[in-house]
Amino acid sequence: MEKMYSGGQIATTNSLENYPGFPEPIGGVDFAMNLDAHARNQGVEIINEEVVEMSLTGAVKKVKLQRMNIRHCSNTSNGC
Ligand SMILES: Cc1cc2nc3c(=O)[nH]c(=O)nc-3n(C[C@H](O)[C@H](O)[C@H](O)COP(=O)(O)OP(=O)(O)OC[C@H]3O[C@@H](n4cnc5c(N)ncnc54)[C@H](O)[C@@H]3O)c2cc1C
Repeated sequence: MEKMYSGGQIATTNSLENYPGFPEPIGGVDFAMNLDAHARNQGVEIINEEVVEMSLTGAVKKVKLQRMNIRHCSNTSNGC
């Protein structure tokens, strides 16, 4: 879930000069776009929404977004 744009603070810098694996400076927006593409290529679904509430205790994790609710259950054997 991302309320603004992929990359976060790093996307605001013109030049990322100290990051493992990048011996030469790279623009923050380019770096952020690489992060976004990498995540999507690995099957990550990016939802552009603000998280307004979370409940992470118990078997069912609940995340409330502005326009939808997400329920995630990592263990299907307990009936959730
Ligand atoms: C000018 C500048 C230069 C930098 N240069 C370097 C560098 O060279 N090397 C380096 O390693 N680090 C650098 N940093 C630091 C780096 O940007 C941070 O360490 C890094 O961004 C922290 O990542 P983060 O994901 O923890 O937080 P953030 O980058 O703050 O990302 C948080 C993300 O969560 C989103 N979000 C927040 N609340 C919600 C919500 N309720 N619902 C949905 N989304 C939400 C935000 O929109 C944001 O995209 C630099 C930072 C700046 C500002």
